Amino acid sequence: MLRNVFIKNFGCQMNVRDAQVIAGLLQKAGYKIMESDAQAQVIIFNTCSVRQHAEDRVWSLIGSYKGTKIIGLVGCMAQNYKEGAFDRDASISFVVGPQDIAKLPEILHKLTQKNFFQRKIWETDGLKRPEEIYHTGYYQDKQKTQVVISEGCSNFCSYCIVPYVRGALRHRKHQDILAEIKEALDQGITQVTLLGQNVNAYCDQAVDFIKLLAEVNALSGLKEFDFFTSHPKDAHSDLFKAMQDANKLTKRLHLPLQSGSERILKLMNRGYSVKDYLALVDSYRKIVKEGKLTTDIIVGFPTETLAEFSQTCALVEKVKFNAAYIFKYSSRPHTAAAEIAEQLDFFEIQKRHKKILDLQRKISKKLNVKKAERDK
Ligand code: SAM
Ligand code: SF4
Repeated sequence: MLRNVFIKNFGCQMNVRDAQVIAGLLQKAGYKIMESDAQAQVIIFNTCSVRQHAEDRVWSLIGSYKGTKIIGLVGCMAQNYKEGAFDRDASISFVVGPQDIAKLPEILHKLTQKNFFQRKIWETDGLKRPEEIYHTGYYQDKQKTQVVISEGCSNFCSYCIVPYVRGALRHRKHQDILAEIKEALDQGITQVTLLGQNVNAYCDQAVDFIKLLAEVNALSGLKEFDFFTSHPKDAHSDLFKAMQDANKLTKRLHLPLQSGSERILKLMNRGYSVKDYLALVDSYRKIVKEGKLTTDIIVGFPTETLAEFSQTCALVEKVKFNAAYIFKYSSRPHTAAAEIAEQLDFFEIQKRHKKILDLQRKISKKLNVKKAERDK
């Protein structure tokens, strides 16, 4: 029997957790999760579609196996390409979208049986994951884990492929989230990250994100927790007060800005203005003592002028983020921004990216020197 599986993971923290969920499901079904591809007969690529570059890396790696292994394309790229993935690379045997990962044990069982003649299987029509997949008890790290509180996204930022590959926003029941955390704590885990594309929009009947924070904070055995990602349009001073009150919560907020230009923010369909964003930063810093602030920025969004790019630089200079993830705009299928006729030249995007990256590096360095001086 072909029972050794290697999972190669790409992308965000949600995928890090998904890879563990897949590992847990397969282990429960009798498969062995390998630490490298050398002894594995099956390779699962758990993939990301947020930027083209991430997809290119996957295609190139799949090609490098030259048909020597059973290859599966799982996650966002699977959803993006569906059965078209088999045309792109004929060595792929199965294609499974993020909402269908519960079917993986059955798919592998079929494909690894000698008398099974169908060589291609795809499952990309699922709308929702069964709750059981979160309870296999598989944790790669013995101290910390991620817990998914909501899946998908319905915000439709004009550049983003996530709503198309991960589906509409769904909230897990708060009792299920707490049960999953308790199971992890029983296994010795002490740190948890609550995950979702927009965690502050969390809502399960009467339990909103602020109530969930208090419930998680009260769990005995939990030493530390944080959450990722917040959306500025759903963040407010009550959230910051709840952050300050939760003694086990890490005082760090990731609040993606994306652009410092009002016009570009509107085109991005982000739902807040530069003024709103600055007011949030002000409120956060007043309420959450010594709270760290990080962000995401996209440079080179279609039609972004030099003056608009400079507004983003000026905002970065003004806010002084502890860290910023700066991305070059990548045109994605299905999205509204991909339809805008005026797309910026790649070299111009590269130039702007380097400039703002250098600026942020200087700011982070200065903040770290200041912190080191304070800690002396
Ligand atoms: N849900 C989170 C939010 O809205 O902040 C972000 C999720 S997305 C996976 C992470 C980051 O990737 C975004 O904040 C954005 O900066 C970046 N991103 C998304 N689509 C992109 C694209 N087409 N090109 C470049 N960067 C992109
Ligand atoms: Fe993408 Fe916007 Fe949803 Fe974040 S909030 S996942 S950037 S559509």
